[in-house]
Amino acid sequence: MSEGLRFFRTRGGVPLSLPQKRRDFLKRYGLALALAVLAVLVRKWLPVREGTTVYQLPIVAVVLAGWYGGRGPGLVASLTCWIGILYWLIPPADSFVLSSEYQLGFAIFVALCLFIIEFSAARWRVERALEESERRFRLMAETIPEIVWTESVMPRRMLYMSPRYEQVWGHRLGDVERDPEAWMEAVHPEHRNDVRSAWRRWLAGEGNERLDMTFPIVRPDGDTRWIHGRSTLVRDAKGRPYRVSGIAADITDERRAQEALAKAQMELAHVSRLTTLGEFTTSIAHEVSQPLAGMMASAGAGARWLAAEPPDIAAARATLDSIAADGKRARDVIARIRALTKRQVPRKDRVDINHEIEEVLALMARESRSHDIVVRTQLDRSLPRVGGDRVQLQQVLLNLVVNAIEAMSTVQDRPRLLTMASARRGSANAVLVEVRDTGTGLDPAGAERVFDAFYTTKRDGIGIGLSISRSIVEAHGGRLWASRNEPHGAVFQLSLPVAEEGQP
Ligand code: ADP
Repeated sequence: MSEGLRFFRTRGGVPLSLPQKRRDFLKRYGLALALAVLAVLVRKWLPVREGTTVYQLPIVAVVLAGWYGGRGPGLVASLTCWIGILYWLIPPADSFVLSSEYQLGFAIFVALCLFIIEFSAARWRVERALEESERRFRLMAETIPEIVWTESVMPRRMLYMSPRYEQVWGHRLGDVERDPEAWMEAVHPEHRNDVRSAWRRWLAGEGNERLDMTFPIVRPDGDTRWIHGRSTLVRDAKGRPYRVSGIAADITDERRAQEALAKAQMELAHVSRLTTLGEFTTSIAHEVSQPLAGMMASAGAGARWLAAEPPDIAAARATLDSIAADGKRARDVIARIRALTKRQVPRKDRVDINHEIEEVLALMARESRSHDIVVRTQLDRSLPRVGGDRVQLQQVLLNLVVNAIEAMSTVQDRPRLLTMASARRGSANAVLVEVRDTGTGLDPAGAERVFDAFYTTKRDGIGIGLSISRSIVEAHGGRLWASRNEPHGAVFQLSLPVAEEGQP
Protein backbone atom coordinates (compact mmCIF):
# COMPACT_ATOMS: atom_id res chain seq x y z
CA MET A 1 0.00 0.00 0.00
CA SER A 2 1.40 3.36 -0.90
CA GLU A 3 2.28 5.97 1.67
CA GLY A 4 -0.52 8.15 0.38
CA LEU A 5 -3.12 5.48 0.92
CA ARG A 6 -1.89 4.68 4.37
CA PHE A 7 -2.41 8.16 5.68
CA PHE A 8 -5.72 9.48 4.65
CA ARG A 9 -8.63 10.86 6.52
CA THR A 10 -11.62 8.87 7.59
CA ARG A 11 -15.01 10.45 7.61
CA GLY A 12 -14.47 11.69 11.13
CA GLY A 13 -11.24 13.30 10.07
CA VAL A 14 -9.16 10.76 12.04
CA PRO A 15 -6.07 9.62 10.22
CA LEU A 16 -5.97 5.88 9.76
CA SER A 17 -2.60 4.17 9.65
CA LEU A 18 -1.48 0.54 10.00
CA PRO A 19 -0.98 0.48 13.81
CA GLN A 20 -4.37 2.09 14.11
CA LYS A 21 -5.89 -0.63 11.95
CA ARG A 22 -4.50 -3.19 14.40
CA ARG A 23 -5.93 -1.23 17.30
CA ASP A 24 -9.23 -1.07 15.50
CA PHE A 25 -9.15 -4.88 15.10
CA LEU A 26 -8.45 -5.47 18.81
CA LYS A 27 -11.18 -3.06 19.78
CA ARG A 28 -13.80 -4.83 17.67
CA TYR A 29 -12.99 -8.28 19.03
CA GLY A 30 -12.45 -7.05 22.58
CA LEU A 31 -15.79 -5.29 22.58
CA ALA A 32 -17.56 -8.38 21.20
CA LEU A 33 -16.10 -10.58 23.93
CA ALA A 34 -16.84 -8.04 26.67
CA LEU A 35 -20.44 -7.59 25.51
CA ALA A 36 -21.05 -11.36 25.45
CA VAL A 37 -19.50 -11.95 28.88
CA LEU A 38 -21.42 -9.00 30.30
CA ALA A 39 -24.70 -10.24 28.84
CA VAL A 40 -24.25 -13.74 30.31
CA LEU A 41 -23.10 -12.44 33.71
CA VAL A 42 -25.86 -9.83 34.01
CA ARG A 43 -28.46 -12.44 33.08
CA LYS A 44 -26.97 -14.84 35.63
CA TRP A 45 -27.12 -12.24 38.39
CA LEU A 46 -30.60 -11.06 37.54
CA PRO A 47 -33.19 -12.34 40.02
CA VAL A 48 -35.21 -14.28 37.43
CA ARG A 49 -36.27 -17.87 37.61
CA GLU A 50 -33.78 -20.38 36.29
CA GLY A 51 -34.38 -21.34 32.65
CA THR A 52 -36.52 -18.30 31.74
CA THR A 53 -35.64 -15.20 29.62
CA VAL A 54 -32.28 -16.79 28.88
CA TYR A 55 -31.68 -15.44 25.38
CA GLN A 56 -32.71 -11.79 25.31
CA LEU A 57 -29.55 -10.17 26.68
CA PRO A 58 -27.13 -12.47 24.77
CA ILE A 59 -29.05 -11.67 21.57
CA VAL A 60 -28.52 -7.97 22.21
CA ALA A 61 -24.78 -8.64 22.71
CA VAL A 62 -24.53 -10.62 19.45
CA VAL A 63 -26.43 -7.94 17.50
CA LEU A 64 -24.18 -5.18 18.84
CA ALA A 65 -20.98 -7.18 18.25
CA GLY A 66 -21.96 -8.06 14.69
CA TRP A 67 -23.16 -4.57 13.92
CA TYR A 68 -20.11 -2.84 15.25
CA GLY A 69 -17.43 -5.38 14.41
CA GLY A 70 -18.66 -7.51 11.52
CA ARG A 71 -18.66 -11.28 11.10
CA GLY A 72 -15.60 -12.24 13.21
CA PRO A 73 -16.54 -10.31 16.35
CA GLY A 74 -20.17 -11.49 15.88
CA LEU A 75 -19.00 -15.09 15.92
CA VAL A 76 -16.80 -14.52 18.98
CA ALA A 77 -19.76 -12.99 20.84
CA SER A 78 -22.06 -15.83 19.76
CA LEU A 79 -19.63 -18.55 20.80
CA THR A 80 -19.11 -16.90 24.20
CA CYS A 81 -22.87 -16.62 24.70
CA TRP A 82 -23.48 -20.25 23.65
CA ILE A 83 -20.93 -21.52 26.16
CA GLY A 84 -22.14 -19.21 28.95
CA ILE A 85 -25.81 -20.05 28.38
CA LEU A 86 -25.19 -23.76 28.18
CA TYR A 87 -23.05 -23.81 31.30
CA TRP A 88 -24.83 -21.39 33.60
CA LEU A 89 -28.23 -20.39 32.34
CA ILE A 90 -29.84 -23.62 31.15
CA PRO A 91 -30.62 -26.14 33.90
CA PRO A 92 -28.92 -28.10 35.20
CA ALA A 93 -26.63 -25.21 36.21
CA ASP A 94 -22.83 -25.45 36.12
CA SER A 95 -22.94 -28.22 33.54
CA PHE A 96 -22.82 -28.50 29.77
CA VAL A 97 -25.66 -31.00 29.73
CA LEU A 98 -28.52 -29.90 27.44
CA SER A 99 -31.70 -31.67 28.35
CA SER A 100 -34.19 -32.39 25.57
CA GLU A 101 -36.77 -29.80 26.69
CA TYR A 102 -34.22 -26.98 26.09
CA GLN A 103 -32.75 -28.34 22.86
CA LEU A 104 -35.17 -26.67 20.46
CA GLY A 105 -34.92 -23.28 22.19
CA PHE A 106 -31.12 -23.44 22.14
CA ALA A 107 -31.06 -24.51 18.46
CA ILE A 108 -33.29 -21.56 17.55
CA PHE A 109 -30.96 -19.26 19.47
CA VAL A 110 -27.91 -20.63 17.60
CA ALA A 111 -29.68 -20.22 14.25
CA LEU A 112 -30.78 -16.71 15.18
CA CYS A 113 -27.21 -15.79 16.11
CA LEU A 114 -25.92 -17.07 12.76
CA PHE A 115 -28.59 -15.13 10.91
CA ILE A 116 -27.84 -11.94 12.85
CA ILE A 117 -24.12 -12.33 12.21
CA GLU A 118 -24.60 -12.72 8.46
CA PHE A 119 -27.02 -9.81 8.35
CA SER A 120 -24.76 -7.51 10.37
CA ALA A 121 -21.65 -8.61 8.50
CA ALA A 122 -23.25 -7.74 5.16
CA ARG A 123 -24.17 -4.30 6.44
CA TRP A 124 -20.69 -3.90 7.95
CA ARG A 125 -19.07 -4.79 4.62
CA VAL A 126 -21.23 -2.29 2.76
CA GLU A 127 -20.35 0.42 5.23
CA ARG A 128 -16.65 -0.40 4.97
CA ALA A 129 -16.82 -0.38 1.18
CA LEU A 130 -18.54 2.99 1.28
CA GLU A 131 -15.97 4.34 3.67
CA GLU A 132 -13.20 3.02 1.44
CA SER A 133 -14.72 4.56 -1.66
CA GLU A 134 -15.17 7.84 0.15
CA ARG A 135 -11.57 7.71 1.27
CA ARG A 136 -10.46 7.11 -2.28
CA PHE A 137 -12.59 9.97 -3.51
CA ARG A 138 -11.23 12.30 -0.86
CA LEU A 139 -7.69 11.24 -1.52
CA MET A 140 -8.18 12.06 -5.18
CA ALA A 141 -10.14 15.25 -4.60
CA GLU A 142 -7.81 16.60 -1.95
CA THR A 143 -4.52 15.84 -3.62
CA ILE A 144 -5.09 16.98 -7.19
CA PRO A 145 -3.99 20.55 -7.80
CA GLU A 146 -7.40 21.56 -9.18
CA ILE A 147 -10.49 22.39 -7.16
CA VAL A 148 -13.30 19.88 -7.62
CA TRP A 149 -16.84 20.58 -6.57
CA THR A 150 -20.39 19.38 -6.95
CA GLU A 151 -23.57 21.27 -6.27
CA SER A 152 -27.25 20.49 -6.10
CA VAL A 153 -29.41 22.78 -8.23
CA MET A 154 -32.81 22.08 -6.67
CA PRO A 155 -32.46 23.10 -3.89
CA ARG A 156 -29.32 25.19 -4.37
CA ARG A 157 -26.69 23.65 -2.10
CA MET A 158 -22.98 23.07 -2.30
CA LEU A 159 -22.54 19.34 -1.75
CA TYR A 160 -18.79 19.21 -1.92
CA MET A 161 -15.88 21.48 -2.67
CA SER A 162 -12.31 20.37 -2.22
CA PRO A 163 -10.22 22.19 0.39
CA ARG A 164 -7.88 23.45 -2.32
CA TYR A 165 -10.49 26.19 -2.76
CA GLU A 166 -9.20 27.83 0.42
CA GLN A 167 -5.65 27.94 -0.92
CA VAL A 168 -6.55 29.25 -4.36
CA TRP A 169 -9.34 31.66 -3.47
CA GLY A 170 -8.02 32.58 -0.03
CA HIS A 171 -11.63 32.35 1.24
CA ARG A 172 -13.10 29.89 3.70
CA LEU A 173 -14.87 26.75 2.53
CA GLY A 174 -17.69 27.55 4.95
CA ASP A 175 -18.64 30.55 2.79
CA VAL A 176 -19.61 28.40 -0.21
CA GLU A 177 -21.32 25.90 2.06
CA ARG A 178 -23.55 28.73 3.28
CA ASP A 179 -23.96 30.38 -0.12
CA PRO A 180 -23.04 28.34 -3.21
CA GLU A 181 -22.39 31.56 -5.16
CA ALA A 182 -19.97 32.99 -2.60
CA TRP A 183 -17.03 32.17 -4.88
CA MET A 184 -18.21 34.85 -7.30
CA GLU A 185 -17.48 37.62 -4.83
CA ALA A 186 -13.77 37.12 -5.51
CA VAL A 187 -14.13 37.41 -9.29
CA HIS A 188 -12.44 40.55 -10.54
CA PRO A 189 -15.01 43.38 -10.59
CA GLU A 190 -14.54 43.91 -14.33
CA HIS A 191 -15.48 40.31 -15.03
CA ARG A 192 -17.94 39.64 -12.23
CA ASN A 193 -21.15 40.57 -14.01
CA ASP A 194 -20.26 38.56 -17.10
CA VAL A 195 -19.32 35.54 -15.05
CA ARG A 196 -22.44 35.78 -12.93
CA SER A 197 -24.85 36.11 -15.84
CA ALA A 198 -23.17 33.32 -17.82
CA TRP A 199 -23.29 31.11 -14.74
CA ARG A 200 -26.93 31.77 -13.96
CA ARG A 201 -28.06 31.26 -17.53
CA TRP A 202 -26.21 27.98 -17.62
CA LEU A 203 -27.65 26.86 -14.26
CA ALA A 204 -31.11 27.65 -15.57
CA GLY A 205 -30.49 25.08 -18.28
CA GLU A 206 -30.10 27.55 -21.14
CA GLY A 207 -27.36 26.41 -23.43
CA ASN A 208 -25.53 23.16 -23.39
CA GLU A 209 -24.29 20.82 -20.70
CA ARG A 210 -20.77 22.19 -20.58
CA LEU A 211 -19.58 25.56 -19.34
CA ASP A 212 -16.03 26.68 -19.89
CA MET A 213 -14.97 29.95 -18.29
CA THR A 214 -11.67 31.71 -17.69
CA PHE A 215 -11.62 34.68 -15.36
CA PRO A 216 -9.39 36.46 -12.87
CA ILE A 217 -10.06 36.49 -9.15
CA VAL A 218 -8.67 38.87 -6.57
CA ARG A 219 -7.64 37.18 -3.35
CA PRO A 220 -8.00 38.91 0.02
CA ASP A 221 -4.21 39.50 -0.01
CA GLY A 222 -4.63 41.48 -3.26
CA ASP A 223 -3.01 38.83 -5.43
CA THR A 224 -4.73 38.27 -8.77
CA ARG A 225 -5.04 34.70 -9.99
CA TRP A 226 -6.47 33.34 -13.23
CA ILE A 227 -8.97 30.52 -13.02
CA HIS A 228 -10.08 28.15 -15.72
CA GLY A 229 -13.31 26.45 -14.73
CA ARG A 230 -14.96 23.60 -16.59
CA SER A 231 -18.40 22.54 -15.37
CA THR A 232 -20.93 19.91 -16.35
CA LEU A 233 -24.67 20.00 -15.82
CA VAL A 234 -26.67 16.83 -15.10
CA ARG A 235 -30.41 16.84 -15.81
CA ASP A 236 -33.12 14.76 -14.18
CA ALA A 237 -35.53 12.48 -16.04
CA LYS A 238 -37.67 15.48 -16.99
CA GLY A 239 -34.69 17.34 -18.39
CA ARG A 240 -34.47 19.88 -15.58
CA PRO A 241 -31.03 20.84 -14.22
CA TYR A 242 -30.40 18.64 -11.22
CA ARG A 243 -26.72 18.57 -10.34
CA VAL A 244 -23.71 20.54 -11.49
CA SER A 245 -20.13 19.64 -10.91
CA GLY A 246 -16.82 20.77 -12.17
CA ILE A 247 -13.19 21.40 -11.85
CA ALA A 248 -11.43 24.75 -11.47
CA ALA A 249 -7.75 25.12 -12.21
CA ASP A 250 -5.42 27.89 -11.20
CA ILE A 251 -3.76 28.74 -14.51
CA THR A 252 -1.96 31.87 -13.31
CA ASP A 253 1.54 30.45 -13.84
CA GLU A 254 0.63 29.10 -17.24
CA ARG A 255 -0.90 32.41 -18.23
CA ARG A 256 2.08 34.37 -16.98
CA ALA A 257 4.36 32.05 -18.96
CA GLN A 258 2.24 32.62 -22.06
CA GLU A 259 2.31 36.37 -21.53
CA ALA A 260 6.08 36.25 -21.02
CA LEU A 261 6.40 34.18 -24.18
CA ALA A 262 4.26 36.59 -26.17
CA LYS A 263 6.30 39.51 -24.82
CA ALA A 264 9.55 37.71 -25.61
CA GLN A 265 8.31 36.98 -29.12
CA MET A 266 7.42 40.61 -29.63
CA GLU A 267 10.78 41.70 -28.31
CA LEU A 268 12.47 39.14 -30.50
CA ALA A 269 10.59 40.35 -33.54
CA HIS A 270 11.64 43.88 -32.67
CA VAL A 271 15.25 42.86 -32.08
CA SER A 272 15.37 40.83 -35.26
CA ARG A 273 14.08 43.81 -37.22
CA LEU A 274 16.75 45.96 -35.64
CA THR A 275 19.33 43.26 -36.16
CA THR A 276 18.46 42.91 -39.81
CA LEU A 277 18.72 46.65 -40.18
CA GLY A 278 21.92 46.72 -38.14
CA GLU A 279 23.42 43.79 -39.98
CA PHE A 280 22.54 45.37 -43.22
CA THR A 281 24.11 48.70 -42.34
CA THR A 282 27.15 46.96 -40.95
CA SER A 283 27.49 44.79 -44.01
CA ILE A 284 27.54 47.88 -46.22
CA ALA A 285 30.28 49.39 -44.08
CA HIS A 286 32.13 46.07 -44.00
CA GLU A 287 32.03 45.50 -47.72
CA VAL A 288 32.76 49.05 -48.82
CA SER A 289 35.56 49.64 -46.37
CA GLN A 290 37.83 47.09 -48.10
CA PRO A 291 37.99 48.82 -51.51
CA LEU A 292 38.17 52.21 -49.77
CA ALA A 293 41.20 51.08 -47.78
CA GLY A 294 42.69 49.74 -51.02
CA MET A 295 42.10 53.06 -52.79
CA MET A 296 43.72 55.04 -50.02
CA ALA A 297 46.77 52.79 -50.00
CA SER A 298 47.05 52.97 -53.80
CA ALA A 299 46.68 56.76 -53.78
CA GLY A 300 49.53 57.01 -51.25
CA ALA A 301 51.69 54.72 -53.35
CA GLY A 302 50.84 56.67 -56.55
CA ALA A 303 51.80 59.96 -54.91
CA ARG A 304 55.13 58.43 -53.87
CA TRP A 305 55.84 57.16 -57.42
CA LEU A 306 55.15 60.65 -58.80
CA ALA A 307 57.28 62.33 -56.15
CA ALA A 308 60.24 60.07 -56.97
CA GLU A 309 63.21 61.43 -58.92
CA PRO A 310 62.61 60.76 -61.75
CA PRO A 311 58.83 60.12 -61.32
CA ASP A 312 57.83 56.55 -62.21
CA ILE A 313 54.92 57.28 -64.48
CA ALA A 314 54.21 53.61 -65.32
CA ALA A 315 53.99 52.63 -61.65
CA ALA A 316 51.82 55.65 -60.92
CA ARG A 317 49.50 54.65 -63.76
CA ALA A 318 49.27 51.10 -62.31
CA THR A 319 48.22 52.51 -58.94
CA LEU A 320 45.61 54.65 -60.66
CA ASP A 321 44.29 51.51 -62.41
CA SER A 322 44.15 49.80 -59.06
CA ILE A 323 42.24 52.77 -57.60
CA ALA A 324 39.80 52.59 -60.49
CA ALA A 325 39.35 48.81 -59.93
CA ASP A 326 38.69 49.35 -56.23
CA GLY A 327 36.27 52.13 -57.02
CA LYS A 328 34.42 49.87 -59.41
CA ARG A 329 34.24 47.15 -56.76
CA ALA A 330 32.80 49.57 -54.22
CA ARG A 331 30.29 50.79 -56.76
CA ASP A 332 29.31 47.19 -57.57
CA VAL A 333 28.85 46.39 -53.90
CA ILE A 334 26.59 49.36 -53.40
CA ALA A 335 24.67 48.60 -56.59
CA ARG A 336 24.17 45.03 -55.37
CA ILE A 337 22.99 46.19 -51.95
CA ARG A 338 20.58 48.58 -53.59
CA ALA A 339 19.33 45.75 -55.73
CA LEU A 340 18.82 43.72 -52.56
CA THR A 341 16.76 46.46 -50.92
CA LYS A 342 14.67 46.73 -54.06
CA ARG A 343 14.07 42.99 -53.73
CA GLN A 344 15.66 42.40 -57.08
CA VAL A 345 16.57 38.87 -57.98
CA PRO A 346 20.33 38.42 -57.29
CA ARG A 347 22.47 38.20 -60.35
CA LYS A 348 23.07 34.78 -61.76
CA ASP A 349 26.50 34.94 -63.36
CA ARG A 350 28.55 31.99 -64.50
CA VAL A 351 31.39 32.55 -62.07
CA ASP A 352 34.91 31.20 -62.54
CA ILE A 353 35.70 30.58 -58.90
CA ASN A 354 39.46 30.18 -59.55
CA HIS A 355 39.50 33.63 -61.04
CA GLU A 356 37.74 35.05 -57.98
CA ILE A 357 40.19 33.31 -55.66
CA GLU A 358 43.11 34.83 -57.53
CA GLU A 359 41.52 38.25 -57.51
CA VAL A 360 40.93 38.13 -53.79
CA LEU A 361 44.49 36.96 -53.18
CA ALA A 362 45.80 39.75 -55.39
CA LEU A 363 43.68 42.21 -53.44
CA MET A 364 45.10 40.97 -50.18
CA ALA A 365 48.67 40.50 -51.45
CA ARG A 366 50.02 43.57 -49.72
CA GLU A 367 48.23 42.68 -46.47
CA SER A 368 49.56 39.11 -46.59
CA ARG A 369 53.07 40.26 -47.21
CA SER A 370 52.98 42.73 -44.35
CA HIS A 371 51.96 39.90 -42.01
CA ASP A 372 54.67 37.55 -43.30
CA ILE A 373 52.14 35.13 -44.65
CA VAL A 374 53.06 32.55 -47.23
CA VAL A 375 50.20 32.09 -49.68
CA ARG A 376 49.73 28.87 -51.59
CA THR A 377 47.11 27.87 -54.11
CA GLN A 378 46.01 24.41 -55.24
CA LEU A 379 43.50 25.18 -57.93
CA ASP A 380 41.82 22.68 -60.21
CA ARG A 381 42.03 24.35 -63.62
CA SER A 382 39.34 22.16 -65.16
CA LEU A 383 36.62 23.39 -62.82
CA PRO A 384 33.21 24.14 -64.24
CA ARG A 385 31.71 27.53 -63.51
CA VAL A 386 29.40 28.04 -60.58
CA GLY A 387 26.12 29.90 -60.75
CA GLY A 388 25.76 33.03 -58.70
CA ASP A 389 26.53 36.60 -57.91
CA ARG A 390 30.19 37.31 -58.58
CA VAL A 391 30.49 40.26 -56.19
CA GLN A 392 28.79 38.42 -53.33
CA LEU A 393 30.97 35.35 -53.77
CA GLN A 394 34.05 37.53 -53.85
CA GLN A 395 32.91 39.08 -50.56
CA VAL A 396 32.70 35.63 -49.00
CA LEU A 397 36.19 34.65 -50.15
CA LEU A 398 37.59 38.00 -49.07
CA ASN A 399 36.06 37.63 -45.65
CA LEU A 400 37.54 34.15 -45.22
CA VAL A 401 40.98 35.35 -46.29
CA VAL A 402 40.86 38.41 -43.99
CA ASN A 403 39.86 36.16 -41.07
CA ALA A 404 42.70 33.73 -41.86
CA ILE A 405 45.26 36.53 -42.01
CA GLU A 406 44.00 37.94 -38.71
CA ALA A 407 44.07 34.50 -37.08
CA MET A 408 47.72 34.05 -38.09
CA SER A 409 48.94 37.53 -37.22
CA THR A 410 49.80 36.59 -33.65
CA VAL A 411 51.41 33.23 -34.48
CA GLN A 412 55.15 33.24 -33.80
CA ASP A 413 56.21 29.62 -33.42
CA ARG A 414 55.33 28.23 -36.87
CA PRO A 415 55.06 29.27 -40.48
CA ARG A 416 52.04 31.42 -41.30
CA LEU A 417 50.64 29.51 -44.21
CA LEU A 418 47.48 30.38 -46.13
CA THR A 419 46.34 27.74 -48.63
CA MET A 420 43.50 28.29 -51.01
CA ALA A 421 42.28 25.26 -52.91
CA SER A 422 39.52 24.49 -55.36
CA ALA A 423 38.29 21.08 -56.48
CA ARG A 424 35.37 19.38 -58.14
CA ARG A 425 32.88 17.70 -55.88
CA GLY A 426 31.92 15.09 -58.43
CA SER A 427 29.14 13.35 -56.57
CA ALA A 428 27.25 16.51 -55.75
CA ASN A 429 27.87 18.34 -59.04
CA ALA A 430 29.41 21.14 -57.04
CA VAL A 431 32.67 22.99 -56.63
CA LEU A 432 34.54 22.92 -53.35
CA VAL A 433 36.68 25.84 -52.17
CA GLU A 434 38.96 25.63 -49.18
CA VAL A 435 40.67 28.37 -47.16
CA ARG A 436 43.21 26.80 -44.84
CA ASP A 437 45.39 28.62 -42.31
CA THR A 438 47.85 27.84 -39.50
CA GLY A 439 46.42 30.46 -37.17
CA THR A 440 45.01 30.31 -33.67
CA GLY A 441 42.43 27.75 -34.73
CA LEU A 442 38.88 27.13 -33.60
CA ASP A 443 37.62 26.25 -30.21
CA PRO A 444 36.92 22.47 -30.50
CA ALA A 445 33.43 22.89 -29.10
CA GLY A 446 32.60 26.03 -31.01
CA ALA A 447 33.36 25.47 -34.70
CA GLU A 448 29.70 26.16 -35.39
CA ARG A 449 29.54 29.16 -33.09
CA VAL A 450 31.76 31.28 -35.34
CA PHE A 451 28.81 31.53 -37.72
CA ASP A 452 26.57 33.10 -35.08
CA ALA A 453 25.82 36.74 -35.73
CA PHE A 454 27.86 39.02 -33.45
CA TYR A 455 30.12 36.25 -32.24
CA THR A 456 33.61 37.70 -32.21
CA THR A 457 36.82 37.20 -30.29
CA LYS A 458 38.47 40.27 -31.76
CA ARG A 459 38.82 43.47 -29.81
CA ASP A 460 37.23 45.53 -32.56
CA GLY A 461 35.45 42.71 -34.37
CA ILE A 462 31.75 42.85 -35.17
CA GLY A 463 31.13 39.15 -35.57
CA ILE A 464 28.90 39.28 -38.60
CA GLY A 465 31.32 38.50 -41.44
CA LEU A 466 30.88 34.74 -41.22
CA SER A 467 27.15 34.88 -40.57
CA ILE A 468 26.62 37.02 -43.67
CA SER A 469 29.02 34.82 -45.66
CA ARG A 470 27.05 31.75 -44.72
CA SER A 471 23.74 33.31 -45.71
CA ILE A 472 25.22 34.36 -49.05
CA VAL A 473 26.54 30.84 -49.73
CA GLU A 474 23.24 29.27 -48.70
CA ALA A 475 21.34 31.70 -50.91
CA HIS A 476 23.46 30.27 -53.72
CA GLY A 477 22.33 26.74 -52.83
CA GLY A 478 25.71 25.93 -51.27
CA ARG A 479 27.15 25.27 -47.83
CA LEU A 480 29.84 26.92 -45.72
CA TRP A 481 31.39 25.14 -42.76
CA ALA A 482 34.48 25.24 -40.57
CA SER A 483 36.75 22.63 -39.06
CA ARG A 484 40.13 22.36 -37.39
CA ASN A 485 43.28 22.26 -39.45
CA GLU A 486 45.83 19.70 -38.24
CA PRO A 487 48.04 20.34 -36.37
CA HIS A 488 47.22 24.07 -36.15
CA GLY A 489 44.70 26.50 -37.49
CA ALA A 490 41.32 26.37 -39.18
CA VAL A 491 39.83 25.24 -42.48
CA PHE A 492 36.81 26.98 -43.94
CA GLN A 493 35.17 25.11 -46.79
CA LEU A 494 32.37 26.09 -49.09
CA SER A 495 30.61 24.13 -51.74
CA LEU A 496 28.75 25.83 -54.57
CA PRO A 497 26.52 24.21 -57.16
CA VAL A 498 27.79 24.13 -60.72
CA ALA A 499 26.06 26.66 -63.04
CA GLU A 500 23.16 25.26 -65.02
CA GLU A 501 23.45 24.87 -68.75
CA GLY A 502 22.17 27.85 -70.66
CA GLN A 503 22.93 30.24 -67.83
CA PRO A 504 24.40 33.45 -69.29
P1 ADP B 1 34.81 39.26 -36.90
O1 ADP B 1 35.77 39.29 -38.04
O2 ADP B 1 34.22 40.54 -36.64
O3 ADP B 1 35.39 38.69 -35.65
P2 ADP B 1 33.59 36.95 -38.19
O4 ADP B 1 32.22 36.52 -38.37
O5 ADP B 1 34.40 37.13 -39.38
O6 ADP B 1 33.58 38.29 -37.33
O7 ADP B 1 34.27 35.85 -37.27
C1 ADP B 1 33.79 35.54 -36.03
C2 ADP B 1 34.83 34.88 -35.16
O8 ADP B 1 35.17 33.62 -35.70
C3 ADP B 1 36.12 35.62 -35.07
O9 ADP B 1 36.08 36.63 -34.10
C4 ADP B 1 37.07 34.52 -34.68
O10 ADP B 1 37.02 34.26 -33.30
C5 ADP B 1 36.51 33.30 -35.38
N1 ADP B 1 37.22 33.00 -36.61
C6 ADP B 1 36.86 33.32 -37.86
N2 ADP B 1 37.77 32.90 -38.75
C7 ADP B 1 38.75 32.27 -38.07
C8 ADP B 1 39.98 31.59 -38.43
N3 ADP B 1 40.38 31.50 -39.69
N4 ADP B 1 40.73 31.08 -37.42
C9 ADP B 1 40.31 31.18 -36.13
N5 ADP B 1 39.18 31.80 -35.76
C10 ADP B 1 38.40 32.33 -36.69
